[in-house]
Amino acid sequence: MSENQHAPAVCLDETRYDVMIIGAGIAGAESALKLGDMGYKVLLVEKEPSIGGKMILLSKVFPTLDCAACITTPKVSETARHPNITIHTLTEVETIKRNADRHFSVQLTKKPRYVVEKDCTGCQECENVCPVITKDQFQFNLTARKAVYIPFNIANPRIALIDIENCMLCGACEKACPSNCIDFTQKEQKLDITAKSVIIATGFRLFDPISIERYGYGRYKNVITSMQMERELAPTRPYNNVLRPSDGKIPDKIAYVFCTGSRDHTVGNPICSQVCCMYSTKQAQLLMGALPMADITLYYINIRAFGKGYNEFYLQAKDMGANYVKGKIGKITEKENGNLILRFEDVVTGKVTEREHDLVVLSVGILSNPAIAKVFKDEKLELDPINYVQQPNMLQSPAQTSIEGVFVAGTATGPMDIPDTIMSAGAAATETSSYLKRLS
Ligand SMILES: Cc1cc2nc3c(=O)[nH]c(=O)nc-3n(C[C@H](O)[C@H](O)[C@H](O)COP(=O)(O)OP(=O)(O)OC[C@H]3O[C@@H](n4cnc5c(N)ncnc54)[C@H](O)[C@@H]3O)c2cc1C
Ligand code: SF4
Ligand code: SF4
Repeated sequence: MSENQHAPAVCLDETRYDVMIIGAGIAGAESALKLGDMGYKVLLVEKEPSIGGKMILLSKVFPTLDCAACITTPKVSETARHPNITIHTLTEVETIKRNADRHFSVQLTKKPRYVVEKDCTGCQECENVCPVITKDQFQFNLTARKAVYIPFNIANPRIALIDIENCMLCGACEKACPSNCIDFTQKEQKLDITAKSVIIATGFRLFDPISIERYGYGRYKNVITSMQMERELAPTRPYNNVLRPSDGKIPDKIAYVFCTGSRDHTVGNPICSQVCCMYSTKQAQLLMGALPMADITLYYINIRAFGKGYNEFYLQAKDMGANYVKGKIGKITEKENGNLILRFEDVVTGKVTEREHDLVVLSVGILSNPAIAKVFKDEKLELDPINYVQQPNMLQSPAQTSIEGVFVAGTATGPMDIPDTIMSAGAAATETSSYLKRLS
């Protein structure tokens, strides 16, 4: 069943689509809107409980410092309301096979929410009474959530779900729900659909710095990731200020470690993630605004400020007082008071130096998300050497993949920022439309 809560009553065959888009981040949503506006019938499949991908969780965006939520929220609600777009959240693609008529037969698995979607008003009464407290993955473990929860304030759809693995099955939410929509009998559903074309918009994974032991992430509480800092700076942030996790102190000496998990053969990711220099520079500017007395030092290898207005944005951060140090961090150690000692070779002076900071932010890289290749059963989706979706005709037709009728959008092709993601999604929509015209 479609989750479009405000869509006008149009007659939709819920099993036949012009295009299925896999992944409802900003790339998937943009391609869906473009194709929906052209009159194509679009199915948008998202494995998470909300659409919006990573962008909906960001603070502000470089280089304009516009509020990320203010840009993403209208786009995702337009997507959700669009009469030509059907959305399935908590849904994954199991198999894609080619039919004799060149269309694709797709099997989907939709996980249960244990909440009747059409009846949930998002009132959160269930959350108030749930006795379970567990880590909140949408705040990147900075805070806790309940077992029954709405993913985050601006989630779309804004509907509760039950994390059944952590649920005690006490029934408190069921008793508290004024709409009577908790349903523990819901089961996983298999859905069979056909689509004339497919767009892969499955985005990227974040590098998990736990594998770089010398940085102490996971052991030292005051070593956090840039995505955690995004949440600390976002309007829907977990605390009302930027705090360091060990003791809730407002930090005054913050360090950034660039290229964590990027340009690093030892972790299997030799390429540049393209956005980390700029998002760290953005966070430095936001921190200098939020904590005017704080000292912000950014340890970098090279600054990649290649886009329109990006070099000026970097120079602006320097003018504001951000301290850029050219040097690769060798090791981080923790002091008893939770402060951190960073050991590095200063490339300018050639000296091995140590400096103390009270919060360290690891500028984590972007990794490929290649699992989607496995769902194609009778044709091979080629991947590039870094496991991003291969673009066999990158210069002339960047959205083409190795399979006819299957296109690719956004960071599923490689690291990129939001402006490039939007352009890539537009290109994928245009190429899909041309393909559909040729097919008919
Ligand atoms: C810390 C940080 C800060 C950033 N700040 C900025 C900034 O200020 N400005 C800027 O321009 N860029 C910024 N970026 C980059 C920006 O986040 C990306 O350009 C953008 O999010 C890419 O969107 P996407 O749709 O390609 O991918 P994603 O946001 O990753 O979306 C992919 C979607 O696909 C879904 N999905 C994945 N696999 C499947 C599957 N098998 N089935 C169904 N669904 C699936 C995912 O759940 C997700 O919703 C930042 C990145 C990071 C990490
Ligand atoms: S499940 Fe019930 S109590 Fe929970 S948000 Fe939905 S309507 Fe409210
Ligand atoms: S049944 Fe599960 S989700 Fe509902 S209140 Fe109890 S623990 Fe929380």
